[in-house]
Amino acid sequence: MFADKKAVIWDLDNTLYRITPEIADILDETMAVALIEDLNVPLDLPECKALVKQSYKDYRDGGEYFYQHYGISQKDLSFYYNKRNPVHLIEPYQNLAIKLKKIPLEQYVFTASNRETSEKILKRIGLYDIFKNRFYSVEDFGVYKKNENADVYHQYCKKIGHKPEDCIFVDDSYSNLEFAKETGMTTIRIYYQNNSAADKEYIDAAFKGVEECVDALIDATK
Ligand SMILES: [Mg+2]
Repeated sequence: MFADKKAVIWDLDNTLYRITPEIADILDETMAVALIEDLNVPLDLPECKALVKQSYKDYRDGGEYFYQHYGISQKDLSFYYNKRNPVHLIEPYQNLAIKLKKIPLEQYVFTASNRETSEKILKRIGLYDIFKNRFYSVEDFGVYKKNENADVYHQYCKKIGHKPEDCIFVDDSYSNLEFAKETGMTTIRIYYQNNSAADKEYIDAAFKGVEECVDALIDATK
């Protein structure tokens, strides 16, 4: 399944590092603070944070409720939320860079975080040298999400000079994999508790945590 591929495209957040439940809660609060303090949403913090959580449940996007009900723009929320991202709280995996270098394929990152925050995160997790000129944000393609249509994946492939059929796309959010698959990429899902998307036919393989995935890619490409 992976043997004849030329490139691996990694999601960043909760794929190349783990967003623990504790960090996820802090990120929800961070978004609520950005909504209240930067974008003047007239709610108190507990109320706003609860709505962010509900919005993630309902739409897989913490901001969606606020785009719909408070006229907040995706662009503004993305800017202020990214600006407040508590990157220093991330616990990097040990030796992930060394392991990644053993995969004999070109490697890239495609993230929904903006460029500035992605750069900070890559530095924090010790992967900036590997992905220095090889990471792209949704904002490079004029969008804010990876799960709206396949077009952004076609554009991505064009940018890196590979055919979708030659690429493996790895993401923890299975809704992103659907459109990657539609372009012809091979798709891998990273999960942590249990593989809640085992029934999705557009997912070719799933691994518990990125390290298991990296080991499998090293093995498959030997
Ligand atoms: Mg992710």
